[in-house]
Amino acid sequence: MVRIDLHAHSAVSDGTDAPAALVRAAARAGLDVLALTDHDTTDGWSEAQAAGAEVGVRVVPGIEISTRADGHSVHLLAYYPDPTAEELCDELRRVLDGRRQRVPAMVARLRAAGIAIDVDAVLRHAANPEVVGRPHVADALVAAGAAQDRSEAFRRWLAPGRPGHLERYAADLTTMIGVVSRAGGVAVLAHPWGRTQAPYLTAERIAALAAAGLAGIEVDHEDHDPAARRALRGIAVQLDLVVTGSSDHHGTGKTGHALGCNMTDPEEFARLMDRAATARLGSGRELPEEWSWTR
Ligand code: AMP
Ligand code: ZN
Ligand code: FE
Ligand code: FE
Repeated sequence: MVRIDLHAHSAVSDGTDAPAALVRAAARAGLDVLALTDHDTTDGWSEAQAAGAEVGVRVVPGIEISTRADGHSVHLLAYYPDPTAEELCDELRRVLDGRRQRVPAMVARLRAAGIAIDVDAVLRHAANPEVVGRPHVADALVAAGAAQDRSEAFRRWLAPGRPGHLERYAADLTTMIGVVSRAGGVAVLAHPWGRTQAPYLTAERIAALAAAGLAGIEVDHEDHDPAARRALRGIAVQLDLVVTGSSDHHGTGKTGHALGCNMTDPEEFARLMDRAATARLGSGRELPEEWSWTR
């Protein structure tokens, strides 16, 4: 049985392993296929793919894109988009600018709440300061003694409604599904009924996204209990969407998300790759030779 995990983060965003180390960990975990899906960036792809070639793990290039729909934050996984597609790069640039600009404001709010941290302390925890996020603020809070670990830092300071929480720019969800398709990639809803997304993404709204070009739903994810998984699987079948499963691994940054803890059925993966090939050809872009799924 081919073991496939389609969602993992490296230190290029808010995971804790460098891309090559992440891929080696995937090999040790017995995975055959691993998607690198750092937040809002493709920076880790080449390092991960080189490591994958060495250890025999097929690395699927992906991005977990921060989007918003009607004011709700929605994470959108994109697989195999052309990383040089101008429209995609422009959108990711805006998201990354928003991430950087948010840090001083968050730090100011936390200082007002009596915590002695500064921007440099946050950036020290981001291996790639381009993709700084709340988890790095959490690390700085832990270092400052304001929390025991990232989870507590989120609960006390960084979750919506807590003193250190601040919204940032995110791309429009439906627009982004089109941007990903035009870049020759496929879009999959990440943990649609996870912590913050549950009440918003109804079957009806998912149907509208499918009509806009959505290719799949991440059904098997730690944030989904068995009932949620059953219901989401039903929606996927009804809408002819691909069902994926993944760990959303963040290294030591997030417990309970070990590599391979959820996996994608090989037949579903094959369907996703077919759609990716169709999207790539439909976008008028070349099928890069080194991608093993091309025929
Ligand atoms: P940001 O995109 O910077 O707003 O931060 C969102 C990131 O924080 C996501 O990658 C989540 O995985 C992570 N995150 C959210 N809640 C928690 C939590 N309770 N513990 C650890 N990480 C979390
Ligand atoms: Zn993350
Ligand atoms: Fe996510
Ligand atoms: Fe994630």
